[in-house]
Amino acid sequence: MRKDIATPQYTKSILDKHKFTFKKSLGQNFLIDRNILDKIVATAGVGSDTGVIEIGPGIGSLTEQIAKKARKVTAFEIDQRLIPILKDTLSDYPHVKIIHQDVLEADLQEVIAQEFSGFDDLMVVANLPYYVTTPIILKLLTERLPIRGIVVMIQKEVANRMAAEPGTKDYGSLSIAVQYYAVAKSEVKVPKTVFVPQPNVDSSVISLTLREQPPVHVEDEDFFFEVVRSSFAQRRKTLLNNLQNNLFTKEQKLLIQEALNDTEIDGKRRGETLSIEEFARLSNALLKLKLC
Ligand code: SAM
Repeated sequence: MRKDIATPQYTKSILDKHKFTFKKSLGQNFLIDRNILDKIVATAGVGSDTGVIEIGPGIGSLTEQIAKKARKVTAFEIDQRLIPILKDTLSDYPHVKIIHQDVLEADLQEVIAQEFSGFDDLMVVANLPYYVTTPIILKLLTERLPIRGIVVMIQKEVANRMAAEPGTKDYGSLSIAVQYYAVAKSEVKVPKTVFVPQPNVDSSVISLTLREQPPVHVEDEDFFFEVVRSSFAQRRKTLLNNLQNNLFTKEQKLLIQEALNDTEIDGKRRGETLSIEEFARLSNALLKLKLC
């Protein structure tokens, strides 16, 4: 019976054996705590029917624990140096496939069609590299992949922003972008000590359960997100100011007050107080006036 990869001693012996040195620029902080790994896998609800896409397997500590439960794991790793190491550490798990690729460049629909045809349950599970957390999560959400959800370890502050409620300091365009596609829940706070090397920031495991439908009806998604981003452009400014400064041409600025009147949203409010439903009403009203 093999030892778990995720112990300080075994991780060190793997790193020594392969003379591996960490690349900070690739967000390489490896997990060495079995309890945290178990929590991630349990939160994701990985079972014998589940197919899992992992991003950034590192030396395979999380991959190994997922592989013990899942029907199949396909993992994207950007660092060529880790490919032979993973071949070694995961040799007991023939249902794990490693793809040497930047996940941001991957055609995930195509990979899912090829690797997971016939699977009814698909999850993305990862300890994400922190320097690209947001682009990766937004890619996973906006590509409307046939997945049940995403369970990932990320920087605590980013997790808080993704799961934030209106009226809180963490609420912003990222909260709305994520919550438009998924129900977000910050699950477990994780101390720095469970990583090697230790990162400078605290971490959280967040679960994003994909919605079948967005929670609001918007006429034009791109325009909706433009309105949201504009509303948060300068957090100290009012909604009206932010919209006037960032949206529309000079001639169209009058429309903003008209749309606020029509939707009964006070332009003196700040963006962070508006619910996703209010943003949807506002962007639909603005679009209607814009198109007249
Ligand atoms: N899963 C391992 C663990 O928990 O110990 C390693 C996690 S480490 C935080 C992030 C991993 O993502 C590293 O192995 C890094 O090389 C890889 N990585 C960084 N950027 C990537 C990208 N754009 N696409 C795929 N993998 C990436």
